[in-house]
Amino acid sequence: MEELLLKINALAEELKDYTATNLSKLVKIKSLSTKEEAMADELKRQMLGAGFDEVRTDGLGNVIGRIGNGTKILAFDGHIDTVDTGNLSNWTFDPFSGEIRDGFVHGRGTVDQKGGPAAFVTAGRILKELAFDRDLTIYFTGTVIEEDCDGLCWKYLVEEEKIIPDYVVITEPTNLNIYRGQRGRMEMAVTFRGVSSHGSAPERGKNAIYMASRACLEIEKLNDRLRSDDFLGKGSITISEFVSGSPSLCAVADYARIHIDRRLTSGETKESAVAEIQELLKGMDTERSRSLAEVEVLHYEETAYTGRRFGMEKYYPTWKIEEDHHLVVRAQETFAGLFNREPLTDKWTFSTNGVTINGYYNIPCIGFGPGDEVLAHAPNEKVPVSDLVAASAFYAALAYYLSE
Ligand SMILES: [Zn+2]
Repeated sequence: MEELLLKINALAEELKDYTATNLSKLVKIKSLSTKEEAMADELKRQMLGAGFDEVRTDGLGNVIGRIGNGTKILAFDGHIDTVDTGNLSNWTFDPFSGEIRDGFVHGRGTVDQKGGPAAFVTAGRILKELAFDRDLTIYFTGTVIEEDCDGLCWKYLVEEEKIIPDYVVITEPTNLNIYRGQRGRMEMAVTFRGVSSHGSAPERGKNAIYMASRACLEIEKLNDRLRSDDFLGKGSITISEFVSGSPSLCAVADYARIHIDRRLTSGETKESAVAEIQELLKGMDTERSRSLAEVEVLHYEETAYTGRRFGMEKYYPTWKIEEDHHLVVRAQETFAGLFNREPLTDKWTFSTNGVTINGYYNIPCIGFGPGDEVLAHAPNEKVPVSDLVAASAFYAALAYYLSE
């Protein structure tokens, strides 16, 4: 193995400019969620150029590259959509230049997360150059719509494409650390129905804004008492939108609706989070109680660039795998073998496709990717070329460690 690792490191280094140039090409193509077609075409071109055994797109528009045809299945996942640029005056360079300068590739998506796919294309090329022939099927998935609805693409891969890997490596930025979990999240809405009356006689009506406001203040207090997990941290809740309606600006409002962003830690589920809100509403409104305030878990549905409509509930479960899990241990060994130091094992602050991969389907999953997550969704996004090199070596070497 030692000799093999030396070869992998040397190839990754030799292919440094190839990797950086591939990423630069990907960054020049704007690819917002549901508009990833040109980006998918370029990624396919790169996979074919690297000598992958098979490259195709599925009905949702996910790019699926394959190397090997073994019984065990390993997948490297990287989403190919990005968020928009935000205020351009916050950028000191063109977000779509893809410029390679001072040891960095610059632009939107370099960190979140086109750097991952660029690195795994190189990993595939390394595996082909080494004539990888272990008993392993390796999928490289360039997935869509992640920024809008994390995990939806993997719901499609598992349920429609029937791709059920034994292991998945998410290539979102981890600063080259090994991540093994994240808090989950969900989106809820509460609708309040009051009774309107003339604004000159508010006592005749029931003001939905007052009802909703009381609920908002209770939700603020609820945030302080939510549970915490040693590894993942605390659950949280906040209100992200408040809308109301009234028959006239001279009437008591009879409608209000709040949008809730809920982050879930270990042990918190959709059921427990909904029940907390229902409990809090019950305490507040004794009169005709619950029918006046209704909680719902929201639903996401969109049309992919392929024309396929697909959706899921906006419930993105918490996930973590144990530090002594086979996949984590193998990843740690791979890292130590390649880089002669111990890796840091940690978690993401944000959400990833792991919510369905592990959260729904229980497929063992870790994260390892180039770039600093602080730059995700931020201006002046750039990724060190040295990170891309390290990630490409890591992905190639991990395929060997997992098929030993
Ligand atoms: Zn991302």
